[in-house]
Amino acid sequence: MTAAIRPMVAGNWKMNGTRASLDQIRAISEGVSGALSEKLDALICPPATLIYVATTLTVDTKLLIGAQDCHEKARSGAHTGDISAEMIADCFASHVIVGHSERRAEHHESNHTVSKKARAAYDQGLTAIICIGETREEHAAGRTMDVMKTQLVESLPDDATPENTVIAYEPIWAIGTGQTPGPEQVEDVHAAIRADLVERFGAAGEGFRLLYGGSVKPANARELLSVANVNGALIGGASLKADDFLAIYRAYEDILTS
Ligand code: PEP
Repeated sequence: MTAAIRPMVAGNWKMNGTRASLDQIRAISEGVSGALSEKLDALICPPATLIYVATTLTVDTKLLIGAQDCHEKARSGAHTGDISAEMIADCFASHVIVGHSERRAEHHESNHTVSKKARAAYDQGLTAIICIGETREEHAAGRTMDVMKTQLVESLPDDATPENTVIAYEPIWAIGTGQTPGPEQVEDVHAAIRADLVERFGAAGEGFRLLYGGSVKPANARELLSVANVNGALIGGASLKADDFLAIYRAYEDILTS
């Protein structure tokens, strides 16, 4: 972990969550209210249908609320079924995930599209969480670093800064599978991402938050979140239950004091 960077524990609820799930949002917001909240951020990205009510519920709490995607056009238009960064900001959300591997695969989103979505987020004052990650085949073929480099170069706008952008490294083969790369592998990839960011953005490259995502659970959180250049986690399945999300969040109690 890079000491100077404030970590973030973020949850992506994907296409899960109804009004009944708001109890989990309430419980998470209560759980992230202690001393630890002075040292790290907690974010939940519920489905779009719950964003406004979630931000209303969490006013004056430490829990941040984000969206899972936005259209590449920042403002309104004839795009049935999509939501704009303007709409997300209007619901008082602070972050938006762009380029999640499920969007890239199911909606054929290219790096170029992801970059445009990140720009739309910036336009509305949102922080973009830009996801990158290799497939199982690319991993097996030893192409992880090349794939990362290309995705990073092409998905990140030139005006990305540590304030408006968070990078999430999510090996696709680790998402929802219970498999994770070993800590050394995570360390190597995160070090390479950091080096690429410094090469492109100079000293500012040292300040970007780099999240790891892919089967983070209470049982492996401490090990994964202790890795150098891992500044937090993007969590899918385990973010749906407040107890699991909070157990991962609390892994930082040990990490930040050791
Ligand atoms: C994700 O899809 O962003 C993710 C990390 O999922 P999971 O934690 O369920 O592997």
